[in-house]
Amino acid sequence: MNTIKNAQVAIVTGASRGIGAAVAQRLANDGFAVAVNYASSSTEADALVAQLTAAGAKAIAVKADVSKADDVRRMFETTEQQLGKVDVLVNNAGVLKTVPLADTSDALYDQTFDINVRGTFNTLREAAARMNNGGRIVNFSSTTLALNMPGYAIYNGTKAAVEAFTHVFAKELRGRNITVNAVAPGPIATSLFLDGKTEEQIQTFAKMPPLQRLGQPDDIASVVSFLVGPDAGWVNGQILRANGGVA
Ligand code: NAP
Repeated sequence: MNTIKNAQVAIVTGASRGIGAAVAQRLANDGFAVAVNYASSSTEADALVAQLTAAGAKAIAVKADVSKADDVRRMFETTEQQLGKVDVLVNNAGVLKTVPLADTSDALYDQTFDINVRGTFNTLREAAARMNNGGRIVNFSSTTLALNMPGYAIYNGTKAAVEAFTHVFAKELRGRNITVNAVAPGPIATSLFLDGKTEEQIQTFAKMPPLQRLGQPDDIASVVSFLVGPDAGWVNGQILRANGGVA
């Protein structure tokens, strides 16, 4: 693992497990000091931070519910105090429950929009005021938006909003040399995707892409590493669909 003095600082939201944990690991390996955000999984977040620190990286765990503006403000403050001003924001935190629109409760609608959309809004708004010029922002959409499968109306609505934020915010940051992109994964083997599905349903998804497998968190961590790294400086306002060719 590279240890860089005065490392650039990255916040990864929802990094206690799944794709976010793989992104945090990859960015630490790339030399970033990483704030590992979580909402409730403190044991997993602390274990990841211990692992990253033992490998020579700078990392802290920061509890914050991204749907709450005050929590997000505190997350940036804590990160600034302990690691330094933020260079990279990865808006990975998100939730998915597949339910037909007609059966969706008000509570599920609110929860999905609060975390996926308001959460992204809260961190973007804070980032505008606090991020270093020359930074990078990566939002999280989903390939489900292109597939239009039953049960995904509310979730896809949230990811459509995230894509809209990505395109417009990239332009609003004119003059700051900050890029804003989104990655739109296809099915990735995490609890968000696997929970509640039968083995048969999982296999159906695994066979969909021409590459004939489910994605792994590291498949997406590499894409984020590219987008926040030196080679992606001219990629801005784009949605990168990393999905094995499923759509
Ligand atoms: P996951 O395994 O369920 O992990 C979700 C992470 O988000 C956890 O670390 C969780 O932390 C955190 N989180 C949830 N609510 C939060 C909140 N209010 N504030 C802060 N953190 C919160 O999910 P994943 O599969 O890695 O998904 C990550 C992102 O990729 C999501 O935006 C998802 O929509 C997107 N995505 C996933 C897939 C897929 O197939 N897996 C496909 C396309 C897009 P706690 O446990 O502490 O709550």
